[in-house]
Amino acid sequence: MGPQIWPQKFPIASAGKKQSPIDLNATTCVVVKGDQGVHVENGLKVEYPKQFPELTVQNTGYGWKVDIPDDIGRQTRVSGGPLSHVYRLTQFHCHWGKDLNVGSEHTVNGKSYAAELHFVHWNTELFSSPADAMPSNNGLTVLGVFLDIGNERNEELEKLLQNICLVKYKGEKCKIAHNVDVTKLFPDNKSYYTYPGSLTTPPLWESVTWIVYSTPILCTADQIAKFRDMCYVTRDQSLIGGELLENYRLPQPINDRTVTFVTL
Ligand SMILES: [Zn+2]
Repeated sequence: MGPQIWPQKFPIASAGKKQSPIDLNATTCVVVKGDQGVHVENGLKVEYPKQFPELTVQNTGYGWKVDIPDDIGRQTRVSGGPLSHVYRLTQFHCHWGKDLNVGSEHTVNGKSYAAELHFVHWNTELFSSPADAMPSNNGLTVLGVFLDIGNERNEELEKLLQNICLVKYKGEKCKIAHNVDVTKLFPDNKSYYTYPGSLTTPPLWESVTWIVYSTPILCTADQIAKFRDMCYVTRDQSLIGGELLENYRLPQPINDRTVTFVTL
């Protein structure tokens, strides 16, 4: 079920005023220097453990997703910057496109990147579970990281990709053989765009404080190509094809929202 028909089942897809993704436009956003104003005493803090052992990757039928077990989630903490509460990592996943010119959900001055990672966090101060937080105001913060094409394989991504062929079909799950250092999936330069928005897949709830890093991380075209070998059908249905060639939503109207660019 693609984005074109989402409005039939989820009216917020077209009626909502805070939908995501959006185009992040340098000329219209408010620029804040990271060492000035509100960001001085209380800058954005992303605290993750060095290793995430025994993670499981799964095919959701819309892409791959890595759930974070709560005992590891408890060691993560995102706070400060645009956030008034403390948030905890619950899962991360990726969006990509049929070729390298498309794939990211957010665009920057109209430009797409080849893919975009989403690290989904829930508000542990106001809610008792991710399910409670997900539909609610200030329920979630999602950190977005663009993937751009470079000459070298991304080694952390490679740990996930070694298992991607084992979750080719919808519903399949597999333990990741190596410890993943999730912090290596973030860029060194932590300048970011932030704005109030929504989940980019149904039910499209407008509960997300978005934080999208302006600097991409790098991987190879071959690595992105492996994502496209996944299928949105189950193994039983596999004879009819069903490759997951793309899984991104196009930018939505900004309406009267303010996008802030924090430069660091
Ligand atoms: Zn996403």
